[in-house]
Amino acid sequence: MALDNLADLFHEELRDILSAEQQLVKALPQMVKKASSPELAKAFQDHLAETEQQIERVQEAFTDTGKAARAKTCEAMKGLIAEVSSMMKNDADPDVMDAILIAHAQKIEHYEIATYGALCTWAKALGYENALKLLKQNISEEENADKKLSALAVRINESAMS
Ligand code: ZN
Ligand code: FE
Ligand code: FE
Ligand code: FE
Repeated sequence: MALDNLADLFHEELRDILSAEQQLVKALPQMVKKASSPELAKAFQDHLAETEQQIERVQEAFTDTGKAARAKTCEAMKGLIAEVSSMMKNDADPDVMDAILIAHAQKIEHYEIATYGALCTWAKALGYENALKLLKQNISEEENADKKLSALAVRINESAMS
């Protein structure tokens, strides 16, 4: 893979986040099922719907690059999902399982925020205005999802103490 300039790098990273979002659409339904708190299950369900929209925005963001919207396996997301999948196999108290789900979902959100952060910076530098607008919408949804999980964690962690 020849990455000669920032435009090539932007395209490559867009392929990575497309894969990351596609992997997450497959993983979130299992997290919905595993959550005991109805609020947590709903937060995951809502983020699943958002993630489907995010995939469409990422696909549209490729237009500025003039190159194909083709995903390239995000190994980091693969690892993050493998980790939460293995943690979900534990015989844990339901509140503890919810705490596990929140912590791992937040690792995923932070990874996405970091990736969209770089993509937004590069889109701005490259003058990709439409891509920038779309990627900013995605990063703000990720930030809101992260904040919502932090708020849910307060009560759930308290319940998981005993
Ligand atoms: Zn994602
Ligand atoms: Fe996302
Ligand atoms: Fe990645
Ligand atoms: Fe997300």
